[in-house]
Amino acid sequence: MTTTSPHGRRSLRELLSLTPAELGLHRDEAVGVFLVDIDRFKAINDVLGYAAGDRMLRLTGQRLLDWGGPRAVLARVADDMFATIRPGLADLAGAVAEAERLRLLLAEPVAIDGQTITRNVSIGLSYGRLSENSTVELFRRADDAMQAAQRTSGNVVRSFSQDLRSQALTRSQIELHLRDALRAGQLLLHFQPEIDLRNGDVVAVEALVRWQHPSLGLLGADRFVGVAEETGVIRDLGEWVLREACRQHAAWRAEFPALRFTMRVNMSPVQLVEPDTPALVAEVLAQNGLGAGELCVEITELVAAPDRAAGIRVLHELHKLGIELAIDDFGMGHSSLVRLKALPVDTIKIDRSFVLDLGSDPTDTAIVQTLVRLAAAFGLEIIAEGVETVAAAIELRRLGCYRAQGHLLGVPVEAGELRPLLAAGRLPPGILPPDEV
Ligand code: C2E
Ligand code: MG
Ligand code: MG
Repeated sequence: MTTTSPHGRRSLRELLSLTPAELGLHRDEAVGVFLVDIDRFKAINDVLGYAAGDRMLRLTGQRLLDWGGPRAVLARVADDMFATIRPGLADLAGAVAEAERLRLLLAEPVAIDGQTITRNVSIGLSYGRLSENSTVELFRRADDAMQAAQRTSGNVVRSFSQDLRSQALTRSQIELHLRDALRAGQLLLHFQPEIDLRNGDVVAVEALVRWQHPSLGLLGADRFVGVAEETGVIRDLGEWVLREACRQHAAWRAEFPALRFTMRVNMSPVQLVEPDTPALVAEVLAQNGLGAGELCVEITELVAAPDRAAGIRVLHELHKLGIELAIDDFGMGHSSLVRLKALPVDTIKIDRSFVLDLGSDPTDTAIVQTLVRLAAAFGLEIIAEGVETVAAAIELRRLGCYRAQGHLLGVPVEAGELRPLLAAGRLPPGILPPDEV
């Protein structure tokens, strides 16, 4: 798809180097530039195989050509990203409406090797006159919009606007004050329960960091953990989270001695390559009188860690201490199944994007089913994240995935708010339907 063809398919570099005339457009004509990214495409390659992935890409390209009409130009920008320049749109609103139509069109199921696959897309777009904006500038703007789209859970259209610039402003504000926030005691933990879907028992609690920001309000982890990683604040932040989570866990253990559950703490790849991390974890456990089996460390993106070998060494040391290790957001592509075998991992947590529509999306059922089989083959525990509906909970049970977390079962709350649930040790009746199996 990277060579010129009579169908208007071109490489991105070619597209950006051509004049409007060479693209078959008038200089004072307005165009929409659309970037289309297939959500969670890598999972199709990983789980259903490359042949299925290739067919999916070819079909998407064909659907884009049909949608764009004879004057549109199409390019493949990255593995699972396409770009289209399309003239003949009245204004920005018209471009957004067309993008919405495209989003629905591309979400229609396709049959591949007897399997029905549906995949959502995220679309970033910009709109402008080629006499006022270069194609390069229009692409840059569409890319800004695409990045905003990708910060959501997908299946959305975003258009370029100045708002995107002001979001970037907030980011530098966050960067500036994060270190002080830690000193000023503005960080806090929320806790989300993990439930056994067969009987409603509480089996673990995950600590999730929050920032009570003086002017921006309560910020979720996604707003600042990335900034903390880029600026090195994550070391101190991570240590604070570990200490605070273990302190809280010890307090709960004392208050609810009959309840045995695990405390789950997220650890950034930056912390994972610190040779001191295992000693710190051992110290914090001892200080709080906790056994190693009561703590689980969750990691993501080990492959992207600055020093993978060092990360693996730390993992082995943590494992030797007896700490449970979980791969978070599993299925998003960074932790391939084969690589997993080489790691001392006990548990995988299925990314919530595969769970949200479970019960209505057959592709997600196929993927989760594969992950459950795989976990069993490797002797791993498996946990589902993002259980928001009863339908998803029932489907998980049917597929043999019994441990789960999600808004249906409990949203993240401050420690005090979790006490009634911990005192009962299980969900109140009526949330989960009785297990029929
Ligand atoms: P995660 O570890 O995968 O945590 C689960 C995230 O999903 C949490 O977002 C939680 O609020 C959200 N969630 C839980 N159930 C549902 C549901 O049913 N539906 C939906 N839509 N969302 C649900 P949160 O707290 O914003 O955290 C985001 C990510 O930030 C975490 O993902 C984790 O990777 C990271 N994070 C959180 N706390 C820490 C921390 O203390 N240290 C480090 N390094 N990372 C952290
Ligand atoms: Mg986690
Ligand atoms: Mg996760």
